[in-house]
Amino acid sequence: MVDRLRNSEANARRIENVESCFGASGRSLMKPGRVLVGEGVLVKMCRKKPKPRQFFLFNDILVYGTIIIAKKRYSKQHIIPLEEVKIENLEDEGDSRNGWVIKTRTKSFAVFAATPTEKNEWMAHIVRSVQEILRSGRAPAKEHAAVWVPDSEAEKCMCCQSTQFTVLQRRHHCRACGRVVCRGCSSKTFVLEGISKKPVRVCDTCYNKLCQGIKVSRRTELTGNDSSDYSDEEDVPSNSSTNSTDKYEAPTFYEPNSNPNADKLI
Ligand SMILES: [Zn+2]
Ligand SMILES: [Zn+2]
Repeated sequence: MVDRLRNSEANARRIENVESCFGASGRSLMKPGRVLVGEGVLVKMCRKKPKPRQFFLFNDILVYGTIIIAKKRYSKQHIIPLEEVKIENLEDEGDSRNGWVIKTRTKSFAVFAATPTEKNEWMAHIVRSVQEILRSGRAPAKEHAAVWVPDSEAEKCMCCQSTQFTVLQRRHHCRACGRVVCRGCSSKTFVLEGISKKPVRVCDTCYNKLCQGIKVSRRTELTGNDSSDYSDEEDVPSNSSTNSTDKYEAPTFYEPNSNPNADKLI
């Protein structure tokens, strides 16, 4: 249980180990009251294709990174505050199985587990950890980033419907709706309330709506990726050969039945 683990040596050792696996590229993760709830490999839908990423669920943050050597070395650490997280189930579709969407204020993306059981475990632990952090008084995100349409799903601009994408005619993503659009249709920027402090790229359709104060519906369907940066998307030679979780071990969860109020009841 989280409360049993909170001050335990085992928990401290685990967090230290996560820190050392990220090395100098990661931030310090040791913090009073922080508990490592579970860890494992999930396939994350990236802009071009799905890629395995190592995920660590803490009682207050979700951390993930690129696997350089399984269980030993990770890079490109991303930290998401749990109060921002909202998850949504994805129905199985073709090869896309055991997936769900992790939505946050700045990025929303789909992830896939190896089996239905692992998916259920992950989702249950994430939901419970988010509930606990919200119960502790942290404010949830009011808005969540759009899930991006993967590049491969758009041959031509989803705004003007005419520009064909080529090496020179690059794809861009509207931060408001998540569609793949051409440069001509996304020359404007806008400050998206609750999501960005700086103006970000939006398509002309969204720009016009936003200027009129009309709410833009954010894309939330299957398959998406980071909508803020791509720093975790490059391939690393050692893991570029596979996109599945098959060669990785099942996830480990350290506290099957956490009760956030246990310490208050004693
Ligand atoms: Zn266009
Ligand atoms: Zn748009």
